[in-house]
Amino acid sequence: MLYGAHVSSSGGIHTAIDRIEALGGDAVQLFTQSPRMWRPTAHDPANLARFRERRREAGVGYVLCHALYLINLASPDDDLRTKSEAALRSTLAVARKLEGDVVFHVGSHGGAGFDAALERVLPALERALAETGERTWLLLESSAGAGGTIGRSIAELVAIVERAGRHPRLGICLDTCHLYASGVDVTDPATVAALLADVDEGIGLERLRALHVNDSAAPLGSNRDRHANIGEGELGDGLVAFLGHPALQELPAILETPGPDGHGPDGAELEKLRALHERALSRS
Ligand SMILES: [Zn+2]
Ligand SMILES: [Zn+2]
Repeated sequence: MLYGAHVSSSGGIHTAIDRIEALGGDAVQLFTQSPRMWRPTAHDPANLARFRERRREAGVGYVLCHALYLINLASPDDDLRTKSEAALRSTLAVARKLEGDVVFHVGSHGGAGFDAALERVLPALERALAETGERTWLLLESSAGAGGTIGRSIAELVAIVERAGRHPRLGICLDTCHLYASGVDVTDPATVAALLADVDEGIGLERLRALHVNDSAAPLGSNRDRHANIGEGELGDGLVAFLGHPALQELPAILETPGPDGHGPDGAELEKLRALHERALSRS
């Protein structure tokens, strides 16, 4: 398992590597532009080159670019869907230069239901997938299920992967907080085993490329997306059940926790993740 965290890239995109190195991580997630604005950032090519160079120096094994929160490929609003597709494609273009993958929230059907939403998602998703290049994957993130968000179950992710023709660089990212909020008790070993059997059967474990490891401040099945620091939420030490599963041992585990001051995970958060993982391995 690679231990990672979401970090800021304020001050130039290459500074994300400086930050993850300072935290002691070996995988990194970042935004390639401000996550709450449509306008893409024009990255200085020198900074993109520095990112690649610094990444090798720091020994960062995996890079994940998180697309904008504004994206909704399922919106009935044509203008919003067009903007969403453009934002996803521009994130993919930057990720290719950073030699990383892209993770995104598919969107919300806003009450129209999953089947109707899927018909809207597919054309935009297929065009985005054409921009993945040779090495960059596009990952669908599992959702907490609030407000009709798509990806609230493995079955929904399976349906998207199937209908997208099992594109060779379409993958998924599982988030422990979102799984728990959507009703999957990731602290229970039998539930985790069943979850990963479903992923294996319907999607393929090779498409599971990354994990978001967050504790949850909201209860099981609440459909509320509230991240808590490692060990401080509803999951607590129960996270060992998830972290110890054999199918996850080669994956990057990326923290998106609030951290001590609400500014994101720090080195102590990464240490807690490492300690829980080591406990999980010593048990199994
Ligand atoms: Zn996310
Ligand atoms: Zn979340």
